[in-house]
Amino acid sequence: MSFKSRAKLSKELLGKYSVSIPRYTSYPTAPEWTEQFKEQDFLKAAHNANRAKSPVSLYFHLPFCESQCYFCGCNVVISKKKDITSPYLEHIKKEIINLGRLIDRERTVEQIHLGGGTPTYFSPEEITDFYKTLKDNFNISDDCETGIEVDPRVTSSEHIKTLAELGFNRISMGIQDFNPVVQNAINRLQSYEDTEKIIIHARDSGFKSINIDLIYGLPFQTKETFAETIDLILKLSPDRIALFHYAHLPQLIHHQGKYIPENSLPSSEEKIRIFQHSVDSLTENGYVFIGLDHFAKPDDELATARRNKTLHRNFQGYTTKSSCDLYGLGITAISNIQNTYSQNIKKLNPYYEAIDLNNFPVFRGIGLNKDDILRKEIIMKILCHGEFNKNEYFSSEFDLLKNLEDDGLISGTYDKSSRRILVTETGQFFLRNIAAVFDYYLQSKIGKQKVFSKSV
Ligand code: SF4
Repeated sequence: MSFKSRAKLSKELLGKYSVSIPRYTSYPTAPEWTEQFKEQDFLKAAHNANRAKSPVSLYFHLPFCESQCYFCGCNVVISKKKDITSPYLEHIKKEIINLGRLIDRERTVEQIHLGGGTPTYFSPEEITDFYKTLKDNFNISDDCETGIEVDPRVTSSEHIKTLAELGFNRISMGIQDFNPVVQNAINRLQSYEDTEKIIIHARDSGFKSINIDLIYGLPFQTKETFAETIDLILKLSPDRIALFHYAHLPQLIHHQGKYIPENSLPSSEEKIRIFQHSVDSLTENGYVFIGLDHFAKPDDELATARRNKTLHRNFQGYTTKSSCDLYGLGITAISNIQNTYSQNIKKLNPYYEAIDLNNFPVFRGIGLNKDDILRKEIIMKILCHGEFNKNEYFSSEFDLLKNLEDDGLISGTYDKSSRRILVTETGQFFLRNIAAVFDYYLQSKIGKQKVFSKSV
């Protein structure tokens, strides 16, 4: 989809739709998962997946970072003591071995992702040792999509060389913003030169795809300052760009409340100016707007999947691997196996204890019922394809949809001759609001729910 933002977003529209809404990397969203979901439910889902012989996606959470970026909402362990990695490595390797025994060897691993935290906090030798265990215990396909998040501030040439030799083919790096005032306010000083050096080295080493993460809505950002960052990003020419909305949740994430004062944040109007300008600038320079917060070059698999309607959404954002069951390893990691979601224990010591007992360290989850499955499907269609079919099952949601059509976010609800409802250009900015119409849990709590980030 080529996209040039002609949408003019009024103050009224922003006022009405700038409300707390989930990002829908899952449905039902994580607050609905409970501790009633136990290890045996996880095992049952894993056996069902073996019967279905579905391909496998593996996510590893490597939680350590050298310093705390103030905006960050990830589950991280901040430490400069590098020996903290060795017990973690030992335990996650044991989790790999246990999971390798559980998963049928006929099933191939099509996708591997190392996230965090900062995976390159681990030394090249530790990453090599970790990857060897992985290879010994899983049937990894020859064209496996193997990615890693790197932080240019702690990633050496040796890291890049080792990763390339091991077969990693995708690299993702956080930049957020190149402006020094913003970087100072979020405690993340990262120069353009260091970032460029890593990207050049990754390209020269044969990495197929480079992704960059940016964030809008950070302290002291304006449309003008962020436009300079976008210009620098265009010079770096990454294959994919994720432009996330900063989720300011000081009541949940204490360092945000402590270090990021409300009055340093851009207004909703300024944020939408930043986002609109970024969309225009990226699409004018050849990037395809994939939806919500992702952009890709036209020949990138994500752009192709968007065109072919095979795009899918999971915890890492948009993906082309829709048929895989996802297994998350390490603290906090999330699995999505058949019609279940589950999450690992969040703290290091209880995680170590569970692994020492040879348990799968599941602490909460959910098994989807029929209603959840139908709603999940329609929410994914809205977020991934920007269109969905009318379905009598959702007749009570229809009044809410008509309100959205009256505000210009969708079209087709009044058209009795067509089954399709399409998201408009203006609606592209409010995909989460449109998806939220089908969120049974959110709709039944409207007015009480305050823990999600603002949609714009
Ligand atoms: S943004 Fe990345 S480097 Fe910074 S604290 Fe979060 S995970 Fe660590």
